[in-house]
Amino acid sequence: MDPALVTAIGDVREQAALARQRGHSIACVPTMGALHEGHAMLIRRAKEISDFVVVTVFVNPTQFGPNEDFLKYPRTLAADLKISQREEADLVFAPAAEEIFPPDSYTTVEVAKLDDHLCGASRPGHFRGVATVVLKFINIVQPEVAVFGAKDGQQVRIIRQMVRDLNVPVKIDVVPTVRETDGLAMSSRNRYLTPSERTAAPAIFRALLEVRDRANAGETDIARLESTLQARLAEVGRVDYARIVDDVTLQPVVKLEKPAIAAVAVYLGSTRLIDNITLP
Ligand code: AMP
Repeated sequence: MDPALVTAIGDVREQAALARQRGHSIACVPTMGALHEGHAMLIRRAKEISDFVVVTVFVNPTQFGPNEDFLKYPRTLAADLKISQREEADLVFAPAAEEIFPPDSYTTVEVAKLDDHLCGASRPGHFRGVATVVLKFINIVQPEVAVFGAKDGQQVRIIRQMVRDLNVPVKIDVVPTVRETDGLAMSSRNRYLTPSERTAAPAIFRALLEVRDRANAGETDIARLESTLQARLAEVGRVDYARIVDDVTLQPVVKLEKPAIAAVAVYLGSTRLIDNITLP
């Protein structure tokens, strides 16, 4: 059956309430649309662990900086509906920007400290936009579980912290990064890549794997690991960051003694791609 497409908050609430009355558990999968197989995996996971799946498709203006790609971000609702249908989502919520952020909205959610580094440092205000919109979708849908991708590692950490700090009654479920066969993490932004950038892009994941191999082989010196990462990525494009940070605090570490993540952001031309891997 086709997932219903709704654009009004009142209609999502009504559909979710009906599902709840029927005894169905609800999962929410927040996305910005331009769905690919990574998103499909999130929907599949949501369907596995709950009865009624709401996919939100919303290019959230508040998480883009003034010089970022908000205007050119791909909007492919018809194709998104097809993928949602294939994965048996029950409802697609694709609101207009004013439905979610009417001009008289003043409240935002800021998860301090965890946005000091990585994407938080290069994209000021980005995670305020993400946390605010995710909390709004959770409040609108009121799911038991919300599903996210490990590809956006800092985002997952920030959302988990928000849920804990604000006592939000939802479970956070995380799906491993889905990759192309050559290792490139799937991303809605991959479609911006020129053919030569696309050929170069898998080296990002290869660099992360190399660093993980070195960590597994006993290298604990973060400076050395980071400089390998930097050097490999510099061959691919302009490195925004290539850091190894504590898995929990997302703060830089000196020695690899506890679980950490190697996280990178690289510009291929004007396209900024991110990826990460857990260490060791
Ligand atoms: P986006 O539409 O890019 O904002 O992503 C929506 C959700 O899909 C987020 O939870 C992302 O982490 C997740 N996601 C995006 N790409 C992937 C991927 N390649 N593998 C797994 N999850 C992904």
